[in-house]
Amino acid sequence: ATSFGIEEALKQLGLEAVNKGTSTGSQWFSEGETIASHSPVDGKLIGKVTVTSKEDYEKVMTKATEAFKTWRVKPAPLRGEVVRQFGDELRRLKEPLGKLVSYEMGKSYQEGLGEVQEMIDICDFAVGLSRQLHGLTMHSERPGHRMYEQYHPMGVVGIISAFNFPVAVWAWNTALAWICGDVCVWKPSEKTPLCGVACQKIAARVFAANDLPEGISCLVNGDYKVGEYLTTDKRVPLISATGSTRMGKIVGRTVGERLGKSLLELGGNNAIIVTPDADVKMTVIGAVFGAVGTAGQRCTSTRRLIIHESMYDTVKKAVVDAYKQLRIGNPLDENNHVGPLIDKDAVSNYENALTKVVEEGGNIVVEGGVLSGEGYESGCYVKPAIAEAENSFKIVQHETFAPVLYLIKYSGDVENALDIQNGVAQGLSSAIMTNNLREAERFLSVAGSDCGIANVNIGTSGAEIGGAFGGEKDTGGGRESGSDAWKIYMRRQTNTINYTTELPLAQGIKFDL
Ligand code: NAD
Repeated sequence: ATSFGIEEALKQLGLEAVNKGTSTGSQWFSEGETIASHSPVDGKLIGKVTVTSKEDYEKVMTKATEAFKTWRVKPAPLRGEVVRQFGDELRRLKEPLGKLVSYEMGKSYQEGLGEVQEMIDICDFAVGLSRQLHGLTMHSERPGHRMYEQYHPMGVVGIISAFNFPVAVWAWNTALAWICGDVCVWKPSEKTPLCGVACQKIAARVFAANDLPEGISCLVNGDYKVGEYLTTDKRVPLISATGSTRMGKIVGRTVGERLGKSLLELGGNNAIIVTPDADVKMTVIGAVFGAVGTAGQRCTSTRRLIIHESMYDTVKKAVVDAYKQLRIGNPLDENNHVGPLIDKDAVSNYENALTKVVEEGGNIVVEGGVLSGEGYESGCYVKPAIAEAENSFKIVQHETFAPVLYLIKYSGDVENALDIQNGVAQGLSSAIMTNNLREAERFLSVAGSDCGIANVNIGTSGAEIGGAFGGEKDTGGGRESGSDAWKIYMRRQTNTINYTTELPLAQGIKFDL
């Protein structure tokens, strides 16, 4: 627990009752229309943020395109040094920012702090990477020639993010894009605009302290219409968009039409396979945290438990018993396990899923319901629910962004479980619980899980920044964060240099003049 409340956190982050929502760094503008941000924790108004108009957006793009010319010629390790300082500022402000994330989004304070820690970790990763943006050298087929490839900065990167990771997703993108020499324009979710303003203030201070121009870190605010300014803008060569598959299909099409690049991080429908050789205790921890953590609002939340028939009753009982221990309430109170959903629309989607699963023939084993009364005034607190279901149910095929867990039985060998696991449109995260080497390797093999993330004896949620993060199929195919994900933020160039006085052609082609 921290020693200060949310008011003090807002103060430390420089947030006011009404905040300008458009920024190129130290300069902030936008008048008129505002977005009001209410906390799902207690329903109270936290603050307002002004919406970016088309004229404001043009001002941002002018600064960003100018700044790119300065930033791209700074040596990459120097850019890394600026990102190092940004990471230090995040360390200093970890508690207030973690608290704001928890209060504006509704995740537990520990998870809010964890999100800021991810930002710090990606900064550290990016600092090291700033000295490793290397390409390959190749042997030329022509005598006296040298051939190699290099990566150059790309330009303005547009970042569109979702409400559920209101600060980390931005940092995953910016920390890498900045060391790659790009400038960034961020449109946070309209459900968490204050997190956006707070982060931009932190970044802007660091750029100003290093005498760098306006425009390297930019912020715009609003709903999908402001997102469309970015997706339709030819001056933005890369759009990194995180959110629903519905959004990703529109963004992918729009950016594709102008032959821009898009990095899509979309919905999941993640499963844990529980085999006859699973450790039940570990399974319960992984499944319950995966299903109810962040109130089921992680892209990697566990939606389906695919359990072998020989284990079914045991695992079902253990999970149902664990659900009895869950404490639902204010996420800033560290005694609670489950906080609120983001808003009342999310509550209706949750209720709808529970109705639909019964209509389709499912069987509720842990009852859901919306909580009311003291402490639940926001109307956004719901009981985590469990239903026995078939994978073919329409509602099971759909990602409901809430704590609803489906139990699905399989028989025979692990192939049958894999068919069920892969038998959904999404392909983000997957896991198997087993002590059987053959089953584990089968799951990880070419004929195994079709997801971007495949874990053994770990749940589906909670990734580390060192690995590339993302998924296949309706999850969009993008990769962010670790490994070589940085390459998407740069343009690749192949160079051949002739250091002779002859000009031989490739493939031995003769062209005598
Ligand atoms: P959402 O799709 O409603 O909104 C995401 C962002 O896209 C918002 O900033 C929104 O304003 C913007 N947007 C929506 N339509 C747009 C359009 N046509 N053009 C431009 N921008 C547009 O998603 P949400 O409810 O905020 O987030 C939940 C979803 O995000 C879930 O499906 C979850 O799985 C997914 N998600 C995925 C990842 C991942 O890494 N794969 C991470 C976090 C969340």
